[in-house]
Parts: sequence; structure tokens; C-alpha cells
Amino acid sequence: MATCKILVADDNQQIRLLVSAALRSLGHEILQAVDGEKALEVAMAEHPDLVLLDVTMPKLDGFEVLRFLRKRPETAGVKVIMLTTAAQNTDLKHGADLGCDEYVTKPFDPRALREVVERTLAS
Ligand SMILES: [Mg+2]
Repeated sequence: MATCKILVADDNQQIRLLVSAALRSLGHEILQAVDGEKALEVAMAEHPDLVLLDVTMPKLDGFEVLRFLRKRPETAGVKVIMLTTAAQNTDLKHGADLGCDEYVTKPFDPRALREVVERTLAS
């Protein structure tokens, strides 16, 4: 698969580093954001192919970011994978209603994460 641009948005630095390392090994270009506002800013400026969105982040949470992304024509078609610690049914339903493509529950296995990312990028 060609190199893709992937935005990793999570307020936890350790998670950002883990996700970035796991995906960089696939040859993708990785961008990072530390909160929801920054994630939107980077998404609008950089037009990533895929956004990995933490649900619980300062300023704007992952669901709010997802809602904005889907509303704007420039980012409406971007692939989105939600990162969550609690894969509660309400969260899953909420994310699906807002149009996320996939869900990954933390803690994740790097190999499983790579599989979900490649599948989502190919879909
Ligand atoms: Mg968080």
C-alpha cells in the first residue's frame, strides 16, 4: 500500500508514541495532536487519509472532533478510527451514529492496531 498520512490525536503522550511507532513501521507518515482542537486544526491543514481519535481529550472530545470532521466538505470523507479505553455499548453506538469507521480499545496490541489501520485505509 502507498504511503498514507495518518493523524494520531490523543492527550496521552505515551499512547501517541506507541501508536506512531506501530504505524510508522508500515511506512506511513504520522502527524500528532495533543487535544481535540489541535486535531481539527491539523486535519484541516494537512488533509490526512486517516485520523485516530482518542475519545477522552481536553478542549474537544473525540466525538466532537468526529462530528466537525464529518460536517466539513474538506474532511467529510476522511477515515476515522476511535481510540477508547472503555468500549461501552453507548460509546460504540455514539461513534457509529457519528460516522466513525472503526474502534480500537486501549490497551491495544500493535499488530492488531496495524491490521485495523490497513483494513480501514483499504476500505
Ligand atoms: Mg485521553
